[in-house]
Amino acid sequence: MIKPLIIANWKLNPASLKGAKLLFDSVGRGIKNVKHTEVVICPPFVYLPVLNASSFAPTSRSFGGLVLGSQDVFWEGKGAFTGEISPLMLKDLGCQYVIIGHSERRRHLKETDEMINKKIKAVLEAKLNPILCIGETEKERNKGKTSVVLRKQLCSALKNVPCSLFSASYFVIAYEPIWAIGTGKACLPEEGKKANVFIRKVILQIYNQKIAENIRILYGGSVNSQNARAYLEEAGLNGLLVGGASLNAKEFVEIVKAAPRL
Ligand code: PEP
Repeated sequence: MIKPLIIANWKLNPASLKGAKLLFDSVGRGIKNVKHTEVVICPPFVYLPVLNASSFAPTSRSFGGLVLGSQDVFWEGKGAFTGEISPLMLKDLGCQYVIIGHSERRRHLKETDEMINKKIKAVLEAKLNPILCIGETEKERNKGKTSVVLRKQLCSALKNVPCSLFSASYFVIAYEPIWAIGTGKACLPEEGKKANVFIRKVILQIYNQKIAENIRILYGGSVNSQNARAYLEEAGLNGLLVGGASLNAKEFVEIVKAAPRL
């Protein structure tokens, strides 16, 4: 049985290293006895080395501590790419997961499907676990285009990604309707369930039963301690990607504790 996966996306927060350490350690203390859920923290890049040295960071995947992830990555391994960070650099800093294609990067940094596809390949080749973010805008949803958008994003992100690359990584897909991110308008669990079933079906069409069964599908968008459980129980999702609520240690720990024991 796959453990529920709860991921914190801290985005451009907290404002200082001291704040990052305080938040990380408070969450670490809060989830100390939680063994049935995998908890990942994705801080800004610059905080990774210090958080990796914290006593709450795991030394291996089997340890029940706070696993580290990054919010982005570059597809090349080295060279003249000012400002970029490679998959192996992240691995060296203790990262196991990498968020790819977050809607804020697609929107503000003009990340294209082609760039996302290159990042997915590079992360899988480095044997890291990608968290691919997909989701429709409010306009697309109102026009009944959710499935078309999700299929297009999945197919382009996974273009020419061979089955063999899936064997050494956990592939994670986060369904994040753009209209639900940071708006307080969380998606209904029924809609989350529909997206969950649809995404797995598309993965089955692209790959095979084994890959479709092993992929973890998460929900993200205005998750809090009150609505978290419904996505995991009613919608059958494998976990949550949490933005705003992950910056409050108490609230985030409540979300982690809401995950059912499978
Ligand atoms: C996110 O940014 O991935 C996210 C889900 O944000 P929030 O929880 O704040 O809606």
